[in-house]
Amino acid sequence: MQIGAHAQVFTGSLDESGITRAITATRRAGFDILEIPMMDPKRFDRALAARLLAEHDIEATASLGLTAATDLTSPDPAVRVAGEEMLETCIDIVHALGGRWLTGVIYSAMRKYMEPATEEGVAHAADALRRLADRAAGKGIRLGLEIVNRYESNVANTARGGLALLDRVDHENVSLHLDTYHMNIEESDMAQPVLDAGDALGYVHIGESHRGYLGSGTVDFDGFFRGLARAGYDGPVVFESFSSAIVSAELSNTLGVWRNLWDDSDDLAAHANAFIRGQLRAVDTIRLH
Ligand code: MN
Repeated sequence: MQIGAHAQVFTGSLDESGITRAITATRRAGFDILEIPMMDPKRFDRALAARLLAEHDIEATASLGLTAATDLTSPDPAVRVAGEEMLETCIDIVHALGGRWLTGVIYSAMRKYMEPATEEGVAHAADALRRLADRAAGKGIRLGLEIVNRYESNVANTARGGLALLDRVDHENVSLHLDTYHMNIEESDMAQPVLDAGDALGYVHIGESHRGYLGSGTVDFDGFFRGLARAGYDGPVVFESFSSAIVSAELSNTLGVWRNLWDDSDDLAAHANAFIRGQLRAVDTIRLH
């Protein structure tokens, strides 16, 4: 199983120094994967990133949340086209990095909606995702639909809702992506949604209830990791944590990162790497009991 970290654990910007810092620190902390947020895909230096990833033997994945200007559920066709074009660019970047995953809130904007999703809006998103999944499949890349809490999307907020969305997209190259931070807000427990998702689960984010150090909040990680073991999950497991110590205007503001929960990225990352690997190792032995 591959364990990773989100780039914003290490850097708020993806300029040359930010990319370099994120990749070297990912390696130093013991991770296999760096998840790169596609905050500004057009300006992202894919050649530099590809070279450094290879040099440090780190695999890249990419993630993003769409915005009001790129929302695939929008009634405005121009907005949907902008979203699809942006995701096409992101697929091309993942391909250039030799990566295998593009995930996140790639079906709607990542924001608080003031009304429920519409049947028509979800149909628009499903149609676009089907086309994007074809494009991605041709490059050996899978798409993940990250299920987030009610304040960050109106399309689906639980694993069950995510499975319904996945049915609407109906494409074998698209998987469910669950995140413990969001599950802790919306799900009834942390193991059953993983078992319900089964083989549809393709990507996992590990985040604490306040998005700080793992084990210092209220997420039931024991239940979640047991669920992963019982489901036979074998996909990427990526650590997410955000602090105002590391600021990206786009992502920090969208996610409401107003507090300083840590100030030492390297210590945080090494701790998370050990925490996740320890949990996975422990639940792996359950099969021997
Ligand atoms: Mn997440």
